[in-house]
Formats: sequence, structure tokens, C-alpha cells
Amino acid sequence: MKSPVENLYVHVPFCTHLCPYCDFPKERLAGNRMREFLRGLQAEWAWAKEEFSLAPKRVFFGGGTPTALSPSLLQELFEIAPWGQAEEWTVEANPDGFGATKASLLREAGVTRLSLGVQAFRPADLTWLGRRHNRATIASAVADARHAGIPQLNLDLIYGLPDQGPSEWQATLEEACALRPDHISAYVITPEAGTELIRRIEQGEWHPDPHIESVLFLLTQRILESHQFTAYEISNFAQPGKECRHHQAIWSGEDYLGLGPGAVSTVAGRRWRNTRDTTQYARSAEVGPHPTHEEEEICGPQERRAERILLGLRTSEGLAEETLQGQEACLSELVAKGWGRRWQGKFLLTPRGRLRADAVAAMLI
Ligand code: SF4
Repeated sequence: MKSPVENLYVHVPFCTHLCPYCDFPKERLAGNRMREFLRGLQAEWAWAKEEFSLAPKRVFFGGGTPTALSPSLLQELFEIAPWGQAEEWTVEANPDGFGATKASLLREAGVTRLSLGVQAFRPADLTWLGRRHNRATIASAVADARHAGIPQLNLDLIYGLPDQGPSEWQATLEEACALRPDHISAYVITPEAGTELIRRIEQGEWHPDPHIESVLFLLTQRILESHQFTAYEISNFAQPGKECRHHQAIWSGEDYLGLGPGAVSTVAGRRWRNTRDTTQYARSAEVGPHPTHEEEEICGPQERRAERILLGLRTSEGLAEETLQGQEACLSELVAKGWGRRWQGKFLLTPRGRLRADAVAAMLI
């Protein structure tokens, strides 16, 4: 019997420019690469239809920057599969290069959520992050999305930046809330191996400050809750009923199929990651049966349990205590430290516990 798949992730690996902190699979828009990518995706989709019982309910187009493609290429991308039949279809975009034409194209195709990579508003923050947009382009992208009728809007933000104390971060959060998004994702800046950001750290130009990051993390919860957002995951905040269903499905351990260069899939206990190289991805998808995998691992019960703990602890739903059988002493210790609490058969992190989510997970795995 074919394995059923209800969650799809599509990785579009193109950006108009590359940000110094980013380690996602991506490349600068150039030449025929987008056509290569589209051919590869078409072939991979044909393979997926044969291999799985596909009934996509939640679709997420990430990147890269999916909306970096021209309107005609976006149209081709949208015609590859019936993405629009999903209940939720999110597309990531950057404020620069997103306008009324692309907003209408997305809405007409059936996109239900736009996730805008705002990251910051202060010019100094945007420059440091290597972003090319500004307050005016952010406001205009939001207005275009609203005018086109895209039902839900997420804003991505980053904190822990140079010279960013509580008042600067509070101003950023307030500015984001003033745009009335349905959802905010707020991530701490994370130095990833091989990025320009690591070079800056090695050269002593900047270094992360865990103390200020903790202060800003707690401030985020407080400010966003005062604007009626619920922290349904450590970095994700939603207005009532506006949680990202795709994220929730992945965090709860549902299978998902990732299409495109560098995309990861987990289906029926198997996990694989497509090659990150767009040319190799397209060639191998076209000659079939499937694009080259860079890694594949079997997800046994132990790995699945560890993942469930790691992801579940980060959510406001917490973990069912049956997942933590045999951990009585550890749970009592976590409660005594004020890092966790037990409620209706679940174990949940307190705000102080959320600051140490990875350490708590390590204790429980
Ligand atoms: S726009 Fe997004 S995906 Fe592209 S380089 Fe910047 S952070 Fe990475």
C-alpha cells in the first residue's frame, strides 16, 4: 500500500541576493537555473505521485525566496501540481521585489498564507543583516498582500543583533504588531558554520550575547502576548486560530514530503534529503527514479521518540507524559527548578524552561 502524505514542503532555492547569516540551500537568481529547477520539480512531482498516496492538506513553499521568480516562472511553478487544493498553502516572500502583481498571482493560485521575511525595521539592523528592504517596502508588501486578499500574513523577525537592547527590540515588535499580522515568528540570530556571520565572529567584529538574548526572548513573550498573540511554540506566535497548521503537523511528528533541492522528507520511518545542488537535483530527477539523496537514515522508535521530545517541548501543547515514562525523577527535578510543570497528563515548559529547551530535552532523551 502506498504511504499517505498530507504535508508538502517545496524548496525554491533562489534569492536576489545572499544574506550573511543564511545557511539554507540557496543561490543567486541567474540564467537558466530556474528553468532547470522547474523541470526537476516537475519530474520529482511525477515520481511522488507514483510513489505515495498524495492528498496534500498543508503545503509550504520556502526557500530561498519563492517570490524571487518572475511572474511567468511563478505561474509555471504553480501549475506543476494542484497545490491550491490544500487547506493551507503558505508561500515565503521578501518585501523587496514583492508587489501587487505577485500578490494577485499568489492569491489567484490559492495561496492562503504569506510569510514575509521582514527580520527588522531599523536601517542599521537591516544593513547588518544584509537585507535590501526598508520600512516603506515592508509596508507596501503588506498592503499588496492585504489588497490581493491573501487571508493570512506572517512576519519573520530576528533578534540578538548588534546594539539591540530591550528598547530597540520592543520598538521592532511594536512596529511589527502595528502592521496587524496574524502570526509572528521571532528567531534569535544563530551563527551557522560556513556563513559570513561566522567569519565576522572569528575576526572579532561581533559576538552573540546569551544574556541579552535571554532578556529579549522573555520580552518577546510579554510584548506579543499583550497584543493577543499566543506563543504556541518557542519562536512562533499566533492570533487565535491563526497557527501555522503545516508547522504544527511537523512538530507533532506527522510525515512530510519535501520537494526541491536540499528538501528533507520523512515518510513511513524513512528520512532523506535531496541534493542541494540545483543542477544535480534537476538532472537526477529527470533521469529518475528520484533526485539524488545526500543522506538517508532509518528513523527507528528511539530517534522518533527523541525528535518528539525535542519538538514537543518547544510547543505550548507540551508532551504527553506517556512519552516520558521512566523519567519520574527527572520530571520532578525540572518542576522543582521551575523549568517545567505538569498539567492534565502533559509536561510543559515554563518561560524559564523555554530558555533552556534544548538542555531540558537532553535531560529527557
Ligand atoms: S533571503 Fe532568506 S533564503 Fe535568501 S539568503 Fe537571505 S535569509 Fe537566506
